Amino acid sequence: MPLSRWSSRHKKTFGKKKEKWDGNFRLPPKPDSYYTETKGSCRWCGDVILKEDGTINTRKSWHEDCATEYLLIYHSGEQRAQLWNRDKGKCNHCGCENRTWHADHIKPLVEQKHVKEKDLDWSYYSLDNLQTLCKSCHRKKTNSEVKLRGKRKPVYKKWSK
Ligand SMILES: [Zn+2]
Ligand SMILES: [Zn+2]
Repeated sequence: MPLSRWSSRHKKTFGKKKEKWDGNFRLPPKPDSYYTETKGSCRWCGDVILKEDGTINTRKSWHEDCATEYLLIYHSGEQRAQLWNRDKGKCNHCGCENRTWHADHIKPLVEQKHVKEKDLDWSYYSLDNLQTLCKSCHRKKTNSEVKLRGKRKPVYKKWSK
């Protein structure tokens, strides 16, 4: 169940023509099923959406969990809502609790830069790869990433507990 509001703007994208991915690794390409013109099949996973009695629900075009996954990737508001729900603003590195917490990708998304569409690693975009960091820990991590960049060393190893 998505935590942010599932607004009408998502309905407006129904039946959209497929666009070519612009290569932006922060917004990975949407699956072909996203562009479906059929109601009752999920725009994220492509599977059929069933009602409790086992018949196809032709009024829906998303599974609840799939909508959550989708929003987590494409809408930063949902990202923050999910993180808050899990971590309550507590820094995953130093443990401090701060109102100005940051959402951080443990394995930095930038590692997906220049990766071909078919080779994208979707684990980078999951909630498991997101953590809450306080401002100062986030800055330190970002700085260490900049230093390590180009050395082909996975940065997150240094940061995982
Ligand atoms: Zn689905
Ligand atoms: Zn911290």
